[in-house]
Amino acid sequence: MHTEDKKDEKSLNFIEEIIDNDIQSGKYDSIVTRFPPEPNGYLHIGHASSICLNFGLTKKFPGYTNLRFDDTNPTTEDTEYVESIKNDIKWLGFEWKHELFASDYFDTLYDYAIKLINMELAYVDDLKSEEIATLKGTPTEHGKNSPYRDRTIAENLDLFARMKAGEFPDGAKTLRAKIDMAHTNMLMRDPILYRVKHAHHHRTGDTWCIYPMYDFAHGQSDSIETVSHSLCTLEFAPHRELYNWLIDKLEIYPSHQYEFARRNLNYTITSKRRLLQLVKENHVNGWDDPRMPTISGMRRRGYTPESIVEFCDRIGVAKRDNMIDIGLLEFLVREDLNKKATRRMVVLDPIKVVITNFPEDKVEMLSSENNPEDPESGVREIPFTKSLYIEKEDFMETPAKKYFRLAPGKMVRLKSAYIIQCDEVVKDSEGEITQLNCSLIENSKSGSDTSGINVKGTLHWVSATENLPVEIRLYDRLFKVEDAANQEGDFKEYLNPESLITITGYAEPDLANAKTGAHFQFLRKGYFTADQESTAQKVIFNRTVTLRDNWAKGGK
Ligand code: ATP
Ligand code: MG
Repeated sequence: MHTEDKKDEKSLNFIEEIIDNDIQSGKYDSIVTRFPPEPNGYLHIGHASSICLNFGLTKKFPGYTNLRFDDTNPTTEDTEYVESIKNDIKWLGFEWKHELFASDYFDTLYDYAIKLINMELAYVDDLKSEEIATLKGTPTEHGKNSPYRDRTIAENLDLFARMKAGEFPDGAKTLRAKIDMAHTNMLMRDPILYRVKHAHHHRTGDTWCIYPMYDFAHGQSDSIETVSHSLCTLEFAPHRELYNWLIDKLEIYPSHQYEFARRNLNYTITSKRRLLQLVKENHVNGWDDPRMPTISGMRRRGYTPESIVEFCDRIGVAKRDNMIDIGLLEFLVREDLNKKATRRMVVLDPIKVVITNFPEDKVEMLSSENNPEDPESGVREIPFTKSLYIEKEDFMETPAKKYFRLAPGKMVRLKSAYIIQCDEVVKDSEGEITQLNCSLIENSKSGSDTSGINVKGTLHWVSATENLPVEIRLYDRLFKVEDAANQEGDFKEYLNPESLITITGYAEPDLANAKTGAHFQFLRKGYFTADQESTAQKVIFNRTVTLRDNWAKGGK
Protein backbone atom coordinates (compact mmCIF):
# COMPACT_ATOMS: atom_id res chain seq x y z
CA MET A 1 0.00 0.00 0.00
CA HIS A 2 1.16 3.50 -0.72
CA THR A 3 2.48 5.25 2.39
CA GLU A 4 0.29 8.32 1.82
CA ASP A 5 -2.89 6.21 1.86
CA LYS A 6 -1.86 4.46 5.02
CA LYS A 7 -1.12 7.71 6.79
CA ASP A 8 -4.72 8.79 6.53
CA GLU A 9 -5.96 5.61 8.14
CA LYS A 10 -4.16 5.79 11.44
CA SER A 11 -1.54 8.10 12.86
CA LEU A 12 1.99 6.76 12.65
CA ASN A 13 4.04 5.76 15.65
CA PHE A 14 7.50 7.27 16.07
CA ILE A 15 9.28 4.39 14.30
CA GLU A 16 6.81 4.55 11.40
CA GLU A 17 7.39 8.32 11.21
CA ILE A 18 11.13 7.74 10.83
CA ILE A 19 10.56 5.17 8.08
CA ASP A 20 7.94 7.27 6.36
CA ASN A 21 10.40 10.17 6.27
CA ASP A 22 13.20 7.92 5.00
CA ILE A 23 10.97 6.75 2.15
CA GLN A 24 9.56 10.19 1.36
CA SER A 25 13.06 11.67 1.24
CA GLY A 26 14.24 8.93 -1.11
CA LYS A 27 16.78 7.57 1.36
CA TYR A 28 15.23 4.14 0.86
CA ASP A 29 12.90 2.71 -1.76
CA SER A 30 12.13 -0.21 0.48
CA ILE A 31 13.12 -1.34 3.93
CA VAL A 32 14.45 -4.49 5.58
CA THR A 33 13.64 -5.33 9.20
CA ARG A 34 14.37 -8.45 11.23
CA PHE A 35 13.14 -10.17 14.33
CA PRO A 36 16.29 -11.40 16.13
CA PRO A 37 15.48 -13.84 18.95
CA GLU A 38 18.15 -15.67 20.85
CA PRO A 39 17.06 -19.34 20.82
CA ASN A 40 17.47 -19.73 24.57
CA GLY A 41 13.81 -19.99 25.55
CA TYR A 42 10.25 -19.75 24.30
CA LEU A 43 8.83 -16.47 23.04
CA HIS A 44 6.65 -14.44 25.38
CA ILE A 45 4.16 -11.62 25.03
CA GLY A 46 7.00 -9.04 24.98
CA HIS A 47 8.46 -10.78 21.94
CA ALA A 48 5.01 -10.79 20.33
CA SER A 49 5.10 -7.03 20.54
CA SER A 50 8.51 -6.92 18.81
CA ILE A 51 7.28 -9.40 16.16
CA CYS A 52 4.19 -7.30 15.43
CA LEU A 53 6.34 -4.19 15.19
CA ASN A 54 8.98 -5.64 12.85
CA PHE A 55 6.62 -7.60 10.62
CA GLY A 56 3.97 -4.88 10.81
CA LEU A 57 6.38 -2.30 9.37
CA THR A 58 6.93 -4.24 6.18
CA LYS A 59 3.19 -4.72 5.80
CA LYS A 60 2.77 -0.93 5.90
CA PHE A 61 5.88 -0.02 3.92
CA PRO A 62 7.55 -1.67 0.94
CA GLY A 63 10.15 -4.21 2.00
CA TYR A 64 10.48 -7.45 3.91
CA THR A 65 11.26 -8.90 7.33
CA ASN A 66 13.73 -11.66 8.13
CA LEU A 67 13.82 -14.05 11.03
CA ARG A 68 17.35 -14.14 12.40
CA PHE A 69 18.41 -16.31 15.27
CA ASP A 70 21.04 -14.52 17.32
CA ASP A 71 22.73 -17.74 18.32
CA THR A 72 26.12 -16.74 19.67
CA ASN A 73 25.85 -18.23 23.19
CA PRO A 74 26.39 -21.96 22.67
CA THR A 75 25.71 -22.98 26.28
CA THR A 76 22.16 -21.64 26.57
CA GLU A 77 20.81 -22.27 23.09
CA ASP A 78 18.97 -25.20 21.63
CA THR A 79 17.20 -26.33 18.46
CA GLU A 80 14.05 -27.05 20.51
CA TYR A 81 13.82 -23.29 21.01
CA VAL A 82 14.46 -22.60 17.31
CA GLU A 83 11.51 -24.79 16.37
CA SER A 84 9.16 -23.32 18.96
CA ILE A 85 10.03 -19.76 17.89
CA LYS A 86 9.27 -20.51 14.23
CA ASN A 87 6.01 -22.19 15.16
CA ASP A 88 4.92 -19.25 17.33
CA ILE A 89 5.66 -16.60 14.70
CA LYS A 90 3.69 -18.56 12.09
CA TRP A 91 0.82 -19.04 14.50
CA LEU A 92 0.66 -15.28 15.06
CA GLY A 93 0.17 -15.03 11.30
CA PHE A 94 3.51 -13.65 10.09
CA GLU A 95 5.83 -14.87 7.35
CA TRP A 96 9.51 -14.14 7.22
CA LYS A 97 11.41 -13.68 3.98
CA HIS A 98 14.65 -15.45 5.00
CA GLU A 99 15.43 -17.71 7.92
CA LEU A 100 18.92 -16.75 9.06
CA PHE A 101 21.37 -17.60 11.82
CA ALA A 102 24.11 -15.39 13.21
CA SER A 103 26.15 -18.59 13.52
CA ASP A 104 26.21 -18.79 9.71
CA TYR A 105 28.35 -15.65 9.79
CA PHE A 106 31.04 -16.98 12.13
CA ASP A 107 33.58 -17.13 9.27
CA THR A 108 32.74 -13.62 8.10
CA LEU A 109 32.85 -12.27 11.64
CA TYR A 110 36.26 -13.87 12.10
CA ASP A 111 37.46 -12.11 8.94
CA TYR A 112 36.08 -8.81 10.27
CA ALA A 113 38.09 -9.33 13.43
CA ILE A 114 41.26 -9.90 11.41
CA LYS A 115 40.50 -6.73 9.51
CA LEU A 116 40.26 -4.74 12.76
CA ILE A 117 43.53 -6.26 14.00
CA ASN A 118 45.22 -5.25 10.77
CA MET A 119 43.88 -1.72 11.20
CA GLU A 120 45.29 -1.69 14.74
CA LEU A 121 41.75 -1.40 16.04
CA ALA A 122 41.71 -4.69 17.96
CA TYR A 123 44.10 -6.57 20.22
CA VAL A 124 44.35 -9.82 22.11
CA ASP A 125 44.20 -9.28 25.86
CA ASP A 126 45.45 -11.72 28.49
CA LEU A 127 43.62 -10.08 31.39
CA LYS A 128 41.01 -12.11 33.22
CA SER A 129 37.45 -10.82 33.12
CA GLU A 130 37.64 -9.46 36.70
CA GLU A 131 40.83 -7.55 35.85
CA ILE A 132 39.21 -6.14 32.74
CA ALA A 133 36.26 -5.02 34.86
CA THR A 134 38.53 -3.35 37.42
CA LEU A 135 40.50 -1.45 34.79
CA LYS A 136 37.30 -0.34 33.08
CA GLY A 137 36.86 2.58 35.53
CA THR A 138 33.48 4.00 36.45
CA PRO A 139 31.14 6.45 34.77
CA THR A 140 32.97 9.25 36.62
CA GLU A 141 36.51 7.83 36.45
CA HIS A 142 38.57 7.00 33.39
CA GLY A 143 39.55 3.43 32.81
CA LYS A 144 43.16 2.24 32.45
CA ASN A 145 44.82 0.69 29.45
CA SER A 146 45.51 -3.01 29.54
CA PRO A 147 49.23 -3.85 29.60
CA TYR A 148 48.56 -5.95 26.44
CA ARG A 149 47.00 -3.09 24.51
CA ASP A 150 50.07 -2.29 22.44
CA ARG A 151 50.82 -5.69 21.02
CA THR A 152 51.97 -5.61 17.41
CA ILE A 153 49.68 -6.57 14.56
CA ALA A 154 51.74 -9.70 13.93
CA GLU A 155 51.54 -10.75 17.55
CA ASN A 156 47.79 -10.15 17.66
CA LEU A 157 47.20 -12.08 14.43
CA ASP A 158 49.19 -15.00 15.77
CA LEU A 159 47.46 -15.06 19.17
CA PHE A 160 44.00 -14.69 17.67
CA ALA A 161 44.66 -17.58 15.27
CA ARG A 162 45.80 -19.68 18.24
CA MET A 163 42.70 -18.71 20.20
CA LYS A 164 40.68 -20.06 17.31
CA ALA A 165 42.83 -23.18 17.10
CA GLY A 166 41.94 -24.04 20.67
CA GLU A 167 45.31 -23.45 22.32
CA PHE A 168 43.88 -21.51 25.27
CA PRO A 169 41.39 -22.44 27.93
CA ASP A 170 38.12 -20.60 28.56
CA GLY A 171 38.66 -17.08 29.86
CA ALA A 172 42.41 -17.07 29.18
CA LYS A 173 42.27 -14.55 26.36
CA THR A 174 39.88 -12.14 24.71
CA LEU A 175 39.93 -10.03 21.59
CA ARG A 176 39.11 -6.40 22.39
CA ALA A 177 38.42 -3.39 20.24
CA LYS A 178 40.97 -0.62 20.69
CA ILE A 179 38.88 2.47 21.19
CA ASP A 180 39.31 4.71 24.21
CA MET A 181 39.59 3.78 27.89
CA ALA A 182 38.58 7.31 28.83
CA HIS A 183 35.42 7.32 26.71
CA THR A 184 32.32 8.76 28.42
CA ASN A 185 30.36 5.73 27.18
CA MET A 186 31.66 2.80 29.22
CA LEU A 187 30.77 0.40 26.39
CA MET A 188 33.36 2.16 24.22
CA ARG A 189 36.17 1.41 26.68
CA ASP A 190 37.82 -1.32 24.63
CA PRO A 191 34.81 -3.66 24.51
CA ILE A 192 35.38 -7.40 24.24
CA LEU A 193 34.68 -8.73 20.75
CA TYR A 194 35.54 -12.42 21.16
CA ARG A 195 35.86 -14.82 24.05
CA VAL A 196 37.24 -18.35 24.31
CA LYS A 197 34.53 -20.86 25.06
CA HIS A 198 35.02 -24.56 24.52
CA ALA A 199 31.38 -25.45 24.11
CA HIS A 200 29.23 -27.37 21.68
CA HIS A 201 27.02 -25.13 19.55
CA HIS A 202 23.56 -26.33 18.49
CA ARG A 203 24.38 -25.64 14.82
CA THR A 204 28.14 -25.33 14.37
CA GLY A 205 28.92 -28.23 16.68
CA ASP A 206 32.57 -28.20 17.82
CA THR A 207 33.92 -26.16 14.90
CA TRP A 208 34.46 -23.10 17.05
CA CYS A 209 35.92 -22.51 20.46
CA ILE A 210 35.85 -18.74 20.20
CA TYR A 211 32.51 -16.96 20.01
CA PRO A 212 31.70 -13.33 19.14
CA MET A 213 30.07 -11.15 21.78
CA TYR A 214 26.60 -9.70 21.18
CA ASP A 215 28.11 -6.37 20.11
CA PHE A 216 30.33 -8.03 17.54
CA ALA A 217 27.58 -10.18 16.08
CA HIS A 218 24.33 -8.31 16.18
CA GLY A 219 25.17 -5.17 14.20
CA GLN A 220 27.40 -7.10 11.81
CA SER A 221 24.61 -9.57 11.10
CA ASP A 222 22.27 -6.64 10.44
CA SER A 223 24.82 -5.29 7.95
CA ILE A 224 25.37 -8.60 6.21
CA GLU A 225 21.60 -8.87 5.73
CA THR A 226 21.28 -5.20 4.68
CA VAL A 227 18.80 -4.52 7.44
CA SER A 228 17.82 -0.88 7.02
CA HIS A 229 16.03 -0.32 10.31
CA SER A 230 17.30 -2.42 13.20
CA LEU A 231 14.85 -2.17 16.07
CA CYS A 232 15.75 -3.16 19.58
CA THR A 233 14.65 -2.43 23.12
CA LEU A 234 15.82 0.60 25.10
CA GLU A 235 18.53 -1.11 27.11
CA PHE A 236 20.55 -1.27 23.91
CA ALA A 237 20.59 2.49 23.43
CA PRO A 238 24.12 2.83 24.88
CA HIS A 239 25.27 0.10 22.46
CA ARG A 240 24.31 2.21 19.46
CA GLU A 241 27.60 4.14 19.54
CA LEU A 242 29.60 0.90 19.33
CA TYR A 243 27.20 -0.47 16.70
CA ASN A 244 27.95 2.58 14.55
CA TRP A 245 31.69 2.59 15.30
CA LEU A 246 32.08 -1.00 14.11
CA ILE A 247 30.06 -0.44 10.94
CA ASP A 248 32.07 2.67 10.24
CA LYS A 249 35.49 1.08 10.77
CA LEU A 250 34.64 -2.13 8.94
CA GLU A 251 33.07 -0.13 6.10
CA ILE A 252 30.09 -2.44 5.87
CA TYR A 253 26.44 -1.76 5.04
CA PRO A 254 25.17 1.04 7.28
CA SER A 255 22.25 -0.45 9.18
CA HIS A 256 20.68 1.93 11.70
CA GLN A 257 19.60 1.02 15.19
CA TYR A 258 16.47 2.48 16.75
CA GLU A 259 15.24 1.74 20.24
CA PHE A 260 11.74 1.28 21.59
CA ALA A 261 10.45 0.52 25.07
CA ARG A 262 10.16 -3.03 26.35
CA ARG A 263 6.59 -4.16 26.90
CA ASN A 264 5.84 -5.56 30.32
CA LEU A 265 2.54 -6.95 31.47
CA ASN A 266 1.31 -6.83 35.06
CA TYR A 267 0.74 -9.98 37.15
CA THR A 268 3.24 -11.85 35.03
CA ILE A 269 6.90 -11.87 34.04
CA THR A 270 8.48 -11.15 30.69
CA SER A 271 11.99 -12.42 31.04
CA LYS A 272 13.06 -15.69 29.48
CA ARG A 273 15.61 -16.23 32.22
CA ARG A 274 12.97 -16.06 34.94
CA LEU A 275 10.43 -18.05 32.96
CA LEU A 276 13.08 -20.75 32.52
CA GLN A 277 13.43 -20.88 36.32
CA LEU A 278 9.68 -21.43 36.69
CA VAL A 279 9.89 -24.30 34.21
CA LYS A 280 13.05 -25.89 35.64
CA GLU A 281 11.84 -25.70 39.24
CA ASN A 282 8.41 -27.07 38.28
CA HIS A 283 6.40 -24.06 39.43
CA VAL A 284 4.56 -24.51 36.15
CA ASN A 285 4.12 -27.52 33.86
CA GLY A 286 6.50 -26.56 31.05
CA TRP A 287 6.92 -23.57 28.77
CA ASP A 288 3.43 -24.02 27.35
CA ASP A 289 1.68 -24.15 30.71
CA PRO A 290 -1.49 -22.09 30.15
CA ARG A 291 -0.47 -19.76 33.00
CA MET A 292 2.75 -18.77 31.24
CA PRO A 293 2.90 -15.48 29.28
CA THR A 294 4.62 -17.41 26.50
CA ILE A 295 2.99 -17.48 23.09
CA SER A 296 2.71 -21.27 23.38
CA GLY A 297 1.17 -20.94 26.85
CA MET A 298 -1.35 -18.38 25.64
CA ARG A 299 -2.21 -20.61 22.67
CA ARG A 300 -2.85 -23.55 24.98
CA ARG A 301 -4.85 -21.32 27.30
CA GLY A 302 -7.14 -20.54 24.36
CA TYR A 303 -6.05 -17.02 23.43
CA THR A 304 -6.42 -16.38 19.71
CA PRO A 305 -3.59 -15.03 17.56
CA GLU A 306 -5.93 -12.27 16.40
CA SER A 307 -6.45 -11.02 19.93
CA ILE A 308 -2.72 -11.04 20.69
CA VAL A 309 -1.90 -9.14 17.50
CA GLU A 310 -4.69 -6.66 18.22
CA PHE A 311 -3.30 -6.20 21.72
CA CYS A 312 0.19 -5.47 20.37
CA ASP A 313 -1.28 -3.00 17.87
CA ARG A 314 -3.26 -1.21 20.54
CA ILE A 315 -0.37 -0.82 22.96
CA GLY A 316 1.79 0.27 20.02
CA VAL A 317 5.40 1.28 20.56
CA ALA A 318 6.60 3.65 23.24
CA LYS A 319 9.79 5.51 24.02
CA ARG A 320 9.64 4.77 27.72
CA ASP A 321 9.27 1.50 29.62
CA ASN A 322 5.92 1.01 31.25
CA MET A 323 3.61 -1.68 32.53
CA ILE A 324 0.58 -2.71 30.51
CA ASP A 325 -2.58 -3.93 32.19
CA ILE A 326 -3.21 -7.61 31.44
CA GLY A 327 -6.92 -6.65 31.63
CA LEU A 328 -6.61 -5.13 28.16
CA LEU A 329 -5.38 -8.41 26.70
CA GLU A 330 -8.15 -10.32 28.46
CA PHE A 331 -10.73 -7.84 27.19
CA LEU A 332 -9.53 -8.36 23.61
CA VAL A 333 -9.54 -12.13 24.04
CA ARG A 334 -13.17 -11.99 25.23
CA GLU A 335 -14.12 -9.68 22.38
CA ASP A 336 -12.66 -12.05 19.80
CA LEU A 337 -13.99 -15.22 21.41
CA ASN A 338 -17.47 -13.76 21.72
CA LYS A 339 -17.57 -13.82 17.92
CA LYS A 340 -15.95 -17.22 17.50
CA ALA A 341 -16.68 -19.47 20.44
CA THR A 342 -19.27 -22.23 20.28
CA ARG A 343 -21.83 -22.00 23.10
CA ARG A 344 -22.28 -24.95 25.39
CA MET A 345 -23.74 -25.51 28.85
CA VAL A 346 -21.52 -26.93 31.57
CA VAL A 347 -22.31 -26.99 35.27
CA LEU A 348 -19.18 -26.56 37.38
CA ASP A 349 -20.61 -26.92 40.87
CA PRO A 350 -23.86 -28.86 40.66
CA ILE A 351 -27.03 -29.08 42.70
CA LYS A 352 -29.70 -31.53 41.61
CA VAL A 353 -33.10 -30.39 40.35
CA VAL A 354 -35.91 -32.94 39.91
CA ILE A 355 -38.77 -31.99 37.64
CA THR A 356 -41.64 -33.70 39.44
CA ASN A 357 -44.11 -33.43 36.57
CA PHE A 358 -41.74 -34.77 33.89
CA PRO A 359 -41.83 -38.49 32.96
CA GLU A 360 -39.14 -40.68 34.54
CA ASP A 361 -37.48 -42.14 31.44
CA LYS A 362 -38.18 -39.45 28.90
CA VAL A 363 -35.29 -37.76 27.08
CA GLU A 364 -36.51 -34.71 25.23
CA MET A 365 -34.07 -33.22 22.75
CA LEU A 366 -34.15 -29.43 22.76
CA SER A 367 -32.35 -27.32 20.22
CA SER A 368 -30.21 -24.32 21.01
CA GLU A 369 -28.06 -21.98 18.95
CA ASN A 370 -24.37 -22.76 18.67
CA ASN A 371 -23.49 -19.10 18.61
CA PRO A 372 -26.03 -16.27 18.53
CA GLU A 373 -23.24 -13.95 17.24
CA ASP A 374 -22.77 -16.13 14.19
CA PRO A 375 -25.94 -16.96 12.22
CA GLU A 376 -24.01 -19.55 10.19
CA SER A 377 -23.11 -21.61 13.23
CA GLY A 378 -26.41 -23.51 13.39
CA VAL A 379 -27.99 -25.31 16.33
CA ARG A 380 -27.33 -28.40 18.44
CA GLU A 381 -29.63 -30.69 20.43
CA ILE A 382 -29.47 -30.92 24.20
CA PRO A 383 -31.08 -33.76 26.21
CA PHE A 384 -33.64 -32.63 28.81
CA THR A 385 -34.58 -35.17 31.50
CA LYS A 386 -36.38 -35.46 34.80
CA SER A 387 -33.17 -34.95 36.84
CA LEU A 388 -31.04 -31.96 36.02
CA TYR A 389 -28.05 -30.09 37.40
CA ILE A 390 -27.89 -26.36 37.91
CA GLU A 391 -25.11 -24.39 39.62
CA LYS A 392 -25.27 -24.34 43.39
CA GLU A 393 -24.83 -20.59 43.34
CA ASP A 394 -27.99 -20.27 41.22
CA PHE A 395 -30.16 -21.23 44.18
CA MET A 396 -30.72 -19.35 47.43
CA GLU A 397 -32.97 -20.68 50.13
CA THR A 398 -33.51 -17.21 51.55
CA PRO A 399 -33.03 -15.03 48.52
CA ALA A 400 -31.48 -11.60 48.76
CA LYS A 401 -33.31 -8.64 47.24
CA LYS A 402 -33.09 -8.57 43.46
CA TYR A 403 -32.01 -12.22 43.36
CA PHE A 404 -33.61 -13.39 40.15
CA ARG A 405 -32.29 -16.92 40.20
CA LEU A 406 -33.99 -19.92 41.78
CA ALA A 407 -35.47 -19.76 45.29
CA PRO A 408 -38.36 -21.50 47.06
CA GLY A 409 -41.63 -20.61 45.32
CA LYS A 410 -39.77 -18.68 42.57
CA MET A 411 -39.57 -19.31 38.84
CA VAL A 412 -36.66 -19.20 36.41
CA ARG A 413 -36.17 -20.16 32.80
CA LEU A 414 -33.79 -22.98 31.98
CA LYS A 415 -31.90 -21.86 28.89
CA SER A 416 -33.46 -23.14 25.64
CA ALA A 417 -35.87 -25.25 27.73
CA TYR A 418 -38.73 -24.51 30.11
CA ILE A 419 -39.72 -22.24 32.95
CA ILE A 420 -39.58 -24.14 36.23
CA GLN A 421 -40.77 -23.31 39.72
CA CYS A 422 -39.09 -24.47 42.92
CA ASP A 423 -41.70 -26.20 45.07
CA GLU A 424 -39.63 -28.02 47.68
CA VAL A 425 -36.12 -28.02 49.13
CA VAL A 426 -34.95 -31.50 50.12
CA LYS A 427 -32.26 -31.75 52.83
CA ASP A 428 -30.27 -34.59 54.39
CA SER A 429 -30.03 -35.30 58.12
CA GLU A 430 -27.24 -32.72 58.40
CA GLY A 431 -29.45 -30.04 56.94
CA GLU A 432 -27.48 -29.89 53.65
CA ILE A 433 -29.61 -29.31 50.58
CA THR A 434 -29.52 -32.43 48.41
CA GLN A 435 -32.20 -31.76 45.86
CA LEU A 436 -34.66 -29.18 44.62
CA ASN A 437 -38.06 -30.45 43.60
CA CYS A 438 -39.44 -28.26 40.86
CA SER A 439 -42.38 -28.27 38.49
CA LEU A 440 -42.26 -27.49 34.84
CA ILE A 441 -44.63 -24.74 33.71
CA GLU A 442 -46.82 -25.89 30.87
CA ASN A 443 -46.51 -24.28 27.45
CA SER A 444 -43.32 -22.47 28.48
CA LYS A 445 -40.94 -24.13 26.05
CA SER A 446 -38.40 -21.68 24.60
CA GLY A 447 -39.35 -20.63 21.10
CA SER A 448 -43.01 -21.60 21.53
CA ASP A 449 -43.81 -20.09 24.92
CA THR A 450 -47.51 -19.29 25.31
CA SER A 451 -47.51 -19.41 29.11
CA GLY A 452 -47.71 -15.64 29.42
CA ILE A 453 -45.24 -15.82 32.32
CA ASN A 454 -42.28 -13.47 32.43
CA VAL A 455 -39.26 -14.47 34.42
CA LYS A 456 -36.13 -12.42 34.98
CA GLY A 457 -33.57 -15.18 35.46
CA THR A 458 -32.28 -17.64 32.86
CA LEU A 459 -30.03 -20.41 34.10
CA HIS A 460 -27.73 -22.85 32.34
CA TRP A 461 -28.22 -26.52 33.18
CA VAL A 462 -27.38 -30.06 32.07
CA SER A 463 -29.18 -33.33 32.41
CA ALA A 464 -28.09 -35.18 35.55
CA THR A 465 -28.32 -38.48 33.68
CA GLU A 466 -27.31 -37.54 30.10
CA ASN A 467 -24.10 -35.56 30.64
CA LEU A 468 -20.35 -35.85 30.24
CA PRO A 469 -18.16 -35.37 33.32
CA VAL A 470 -15.11 -33.36 32.25
CA GLU A 471 -11.95 -32.11 33.92
CA ILE A 472 -11.84 -28.36 34.09
CA ARG A 473 -8.68 -26.40 34.78
CA LEU A 474 -9.45 -22.99 36.17
CA TYR A 475 -6.46 -20.75 35.54
CA ASP A 476 -5.82 -17.47 37.17
CA ARG A 477 -3.04 -14.89 37.28
CA LEU A 478 0.40 -16.36 37.76
CA PHE A 479 1.46 -13.79 40.34
CA LYS A 480 -0.34 -12.15 43.24
CA VAL A 481 1.35 -8.81 42.63
CA GLU A 482 1.53 -6.58 39.57
CA ASP A 483 5.28 -6.32 39.32
CA ALA A 484 6.77 -9.54 40.64
CA ALA A 485 10.10 -8.92 38.92
CA ASN A 486 10.77 -5.84 41.03
CA GLN A 487 9.76 -6.97 44.49
CA GLU A 488 11.99 -7.55 47.43
CA GLY A 489 13.35 -11.07 47.71
CA ASP A 490 12.78 -13.91 45.29
CA PHE A 491 10.16 -13.21 42.63
CA LYS A 492 8.85 -16.76 43.08
CA GLU A 493 7.56 -15.88 46.55
CA TYR A 494 4.90 -13.86 44.78
CA LEU A 495 3.45 -16.72 42.75
CA ASN A 496 -0.33 -17.01 43.10
CA PRO A 497 -0.94 -20.37 44.85
CA GLU A 498 -4.42 -20.47 43.31
CA SER A 499 -3.31 -19.95 39.74
CA LEU A 500 -4.58 -23.44 38.90
CA ILE A 501 -7.62 -25.14 40.40
CA THR A 502 -8.80 -28.40 38.89
CA ILE A 503 -12.44 -29.41 39.21
CA THR A 504 -14.93 -31.78 37.59
CA GLY A 505 -17.73 -30.23 35.59
CA TYR A 506 -20.81 -31.73 33.90
CA ALA A 507 -21.09 -30.93 30.25
CA GLU A 508 -23.44 -31.40 27.35
CA PRO A 509 -22.60 -34.88 25.99
CA ASP A 510 -21.40 -33.71 22.58
CA LEU A 511 -18.36 -32.03 24.17
CA ALA A 512 -16.85 -35.52 24.12
CA ASN A 513 -15.87 -34.64 20.55
CA ALA A 514 -14.25 -31.27 21.30
CA LYS A 515 -11.06 -30.88 19.26
CA THR A 516 -7.85 -29.63 20.89
CA GLY A 517 -7.76 -25.86 20.66
CA ALA A 518 -11.47 -25.48 19.80
CA HIS A 519 -13.01 -22.48 21.55
CA PHE A 520 -16.17 -22.64 23.66
CA GLN A 521 -18.19 -20.30 25.74
CA PHE A 522 -19.61 -22.21 28.66
CA LEU A 523 -22.71 -20.12 29.20
CA ARG A 524 -22.42 -17.70 32.11
CA LYS A 525 -19.06 -19.24 33.10
CA GLY A 526 -16.43 -18.04 30.66
CA TYR A 527 -14.42 -19.07 27.63
CA PHE A 528 -12.80 -22.50 27.58
CA THR A 529 -10.71 -24.56 25.20
CA ALA A 530 -10.06 -28.28 24.92
CA ASP A 531 -6.59 -29.09 26.19
CA GLN A 532 -4.01 -31.12 24.27
CA GLU A 533 -3.98 -33.70 27.11
CA SER A 534 -7.66 -34.50 26.50
CA THR A 535 -8.43 -38.12 25.67
CA ALA A 536 -11.60 -40.03 24.82
CA GLN A 537 -11.65 -41.26 28.43
CA LYS A 538 -11.01 -37.89 30.00
CA VAL A 539 -11.95 -34.66 28.27
CA ILE A 540 -10.07 -31.68 29.66
CA PHE A 541 -10.90 -28.01 29.30
CA ASN A 542 -8.75 -24.99 30.12
CA ARG A 543 -10.46 -21.83 31.20
CA THR A 544 -9.20 -19.15 28.83
CA VAL A 545 -10.83 -16.22 30.59
CA THR A 546 -13.90 -15.49 32.65
CA LEU A 547 -16.80 -13.64 31.04
CA ARG A 548 -16.13 -10.50 33.02
CA ASP A 549 -13.13 -9.06 34.74
CA ASN A 550 -13.86 -10.07 38.33
CA TRP A 551 -10.31 -9.90 39.62
CA ALA A 552 -10.92 -6.49 41.17
CA LYS A 553 -13.64 -8.01 43.35
CA GLY A 554 -11.20 -10.66 44.53
CA GLY A 555 -13.09 -13.24 42.53
CA LYS A 556 -11.86 -16.33 40.74
P1 ATP B 1 14.44 -11.82 27.66
O1 ATP B 1 14.90 -10.74 28.58
O2 ATP B 1 13.05 -12.26 27.91
O3 ATP B 1 15.40 -12.95 27.59
P2 ATP B 1 15.59 -10.85 25.30
O4 ATP B 1 15.56 -9.45 24.91
O5 ATP B 1 16.88 -11.37 25.82
O6 ATP B 1 14.38 -11.13 26.25
P3 ATP B 1 15.72 -11.86 22.67
O7 ATP B 1 15.51 -13.23 22.19
O8 ATP B 1 17.08 -11.30 22.61
O9 ATP B 1 15.16 -11.79 24.15
O10 ATP B 1 14.68 -10.88 21.99
C1 ATP B 1 14.36 -10.86 20.62
C2 ATP B 1 13.77 -9.52 20.31
O11 ATP B 1 12.58 -9.30 21.09
C3 ATP B 1 14.72 -8.40 20.66
O12 ATP B 1 14.73 -7.46 19.61
C4 ATP B 1 14.18 -7.84 21.92
O13 ATP B 1 14.53 -6.50 22.07
C5 ATP B 1 12.67 -8.07 21.76
N1 ATP B 1 12.03 -8.15 23.07
C6 ATP B 1 12.33 -9.00 24.07
N2 ATP B 1 11.55 -8.77 25.15
C7 ATP B 1 10.73 -7.75 24.82
C8 ATP B 1 9.70 -7.04 25.51
N3 ATP B 1 9.35 -7.33 26.77
N4 ATP B 1 9.06 -6.05 24.84
C9 ATP B 1 9.40 -5.76 23.58
N5 ATP B 1 10.35 -6.38 22.88
C10 ATP B 1 11.02 -7.36 23.48
MG1 MG C 1 18.61 -10.92 24.47
